[in-house]
This record gives sequence, structure tokens and C-alpha cells, in this order.
Amino acid sequence: MRRKMDKDLLTHLINEVNSMVTEEIKIMEVCGTHTQMIAKLGLRSLLSSKIKLLSGPGCPVCVTEEKYIDWAIEILNRYHVTVATFGDLMRVGGGKGSLLEEKGKGKDVRIIYSSLDIIEMAEKNRGKQVVFLGVGFETTAPIIALAMKTAFERGIDNLYFLTSLKLMPPILHYILKEANNGIHGFICPGHVATIKGADYFKFINREYHTPAAVCGFEAIDIVAGIYYLVKQITQGKKNAFQNLYKRCVKPQGNPTANLLMEEVFNIVDGEWRGIGNIANSSLGINEKYTRFDARNAFVVEDQQVKIRTSCECKDILLGRKTPKECKLFKKRCNPLTPQGPCMVSTEGACTIAYRFGEEV
Ligand code: SF4
Repeated sequence: MRRKMDKDLLTHLINEVNSMVTEEIKIMEVCGTHTQMIAKLGLRSLLSSKIKLLSGPGCPVCVTEEKYIDWAIEILNRYHVTVATFGDLMRVGGGKGSLLEEKGKGKDVRIIYSSLDIIEMAEKNRGKQVVFLGVGFETTAPIIALAMKTAFERGIDNLYFLTSLKLMPPILHYILKEANNGIHGFICPGHVATIKGADYFKFINREYHTPAAVCGFEAIDIVAGIYYLVKQITQGKKNAFQNLYKRCVKPQGNPTANLLMEEVFNIVDGEWRGIGNIANSSLGINEKYTRFDARNAFVVEDQQVKIRTSCECKDILLGRKTPKECKLFKKRCNPLTPQGPCMVSTEGACTIAYRFGEEV
């Protein structure tokens, strides 16, 4: 019964959206999980062709800089450590290749499924130095902070963290100021807002007069978000902002998660793949936890990265191009021979476009 009601409501909202649109409307879904769901539902084929849904910078692997992969490879080779990482990061290329290639050469690179697994790994391998590669956004940072706090409290001295943790607002400020992509509205990631609070993305309408909505990840959440945005845009209401994911996103966010992040990290400048340095866009390990910071524990040479392909992930992450507009898409670049991170990660726009065969 509920399923039928949802389906009827979805159909109704999609029809309403299509009837409202008279000229092109560009909406960016910031998060890769939203991109995946939109493709899975085949939403683009149901919506008017005047509505362009563009992927944003919210795929953590896609925005991880080449230099970071090179650091990991250098630490692995120079210090003969165990490197532990999530699977998606294995195939992402830096200037020196990928961790998968290093594993193929017999290096100790292991895939883990939870950042807390590394505590067990370090405790069971006391004679070995373990380096955990932690990338992600505000959603992943609290779990990594918890792992580091646990290691601190248990006195684990053979575990290090090489982190590349990014913050959403600075990259969205960059997109709104610099990207020149003509986006009319934003679907904001509900899981980030669950951690940081309902108003975390309110600056989009307050400072840039662009409508935005915080959305969940079910079909009805995304379609309701598109309906809300299209309605505001077509009525000329540029200052609209709505939390449409109230069942999870509370005004104060998740205080426990925020306390954990404050305990372990401080805000620093960050490098974004293809985009460069953005001020105050990253989380660095603070003074108290500095002994866990792999950048301090191991000396690595900060070499200039050689860009090996004409991958256009940068423009895709900034909403300026779609995967199909990249000349390598489905040719030299495919999931077996990815030329950029957007074709590696399951949340990458190019992987999703390839898999679902629709414009992303
Ligand atoms: Fe980069 Fe491949 Fe995507 Fe082109 S199709 S932007 S080369 S990941």
C-alpha cells in the first residue's frame, strides 16, 4: 500500500515538475550518492529535457589529489609499512601510479571495510607500522576521529593516519563564485547535514541567492527536492532554502560526531584534484594527535605531479561538463582502464554514466 502511494506521489511530482518548466533549469546534486540514485531511477528520462541534473564535487575519491596517492606510495616503498585503505582508493592514479599497481608488485596494501578495523590490524601486528588512508567529507571524518581517539587511549604506537578529509562549504563557495556553470539550484547532501545541522548549507541562498534543499537518498526525497527547487526557480524565489530531510537532519546536527571532529582535527587549507588549493577546506590532525599524522612520522618528497591524461574530472566536479562531453569517455576511459578518479569510484559521475548509460 505504502509502495503504491509513493509511486503515485512520485508520478504526480514528476508531472508537476514537467508542467512548471518552460526554459532550461540546471540543478546540481552535490553528492555522489544522489547521482547514483538519480541514475538508478532513470530520473533524467522521466523529467523534461529542459531540466539538467549535474553532478557535483561530493565523491570523496574523485576529489582526492594526485599528490596524496603519491605520498601513500612513497611511504609504502620507502618505509615498508602496511597501507590500509578502502577499496575505491586502490585504483585511483597519482603521478606515480596506483596502490593497486603497488599491490601487484607484492607491496603490503590491504583493503579494509571500516576505519575501526585498523585498530585491530595495528594491535595484531605490533611489529609492523600501519598507515591508514582516510579520505572523505564531514560524514567520514567523525569515524576516523573515533579511530584515532581509540588508538590514543589504547596507547597504540604503530598506527598512522594519512588523511585527506574535505569540507563541503568551501568547495560550494568556490563553485558559486568561480565555476561559471549557470547552476540554478542545489540538492544538498542529507548525510553531511545530519552531522553538521539543518542550516549548514543555508549560505547558498543567503549569500548567493540561489535556491537549495537538503535531501535524503530515497526516490521520493530526491524528486521532492527537485520539485521544491523547480517551483522556487520558476517563481523567481531566489532566497529559498529548505531542509527536506527532517526525519534525519536536526537543527543541531550530531553533537557527538562534531565533538569527535573538534577533539582530533583543526581546519586547514586543502588541495582538490584538478582544482587546486582552497582555503580552509580540509581537516588536518591537531597538535594533541600529531604523533598519528603520517605526514609528520614519515619524510616524503613533495614532488611536482605529472598529469598523465587529459581527464576532465575537474569540469565534471564543478558542473561545467557531463561525462559524455569528455572525449575519453567510453573510449580510452572505462571502468577497466580508468583515466581519472570519476571513472574509478562507484560514486564517480563517469562510472555512473558508464554503468547506467544515461547522461549524468
Ligand atoms: Fe576523466 Fe574518464 Fe571521466 Fe573523462 S571519462 S572525465 S577521462 S574519468
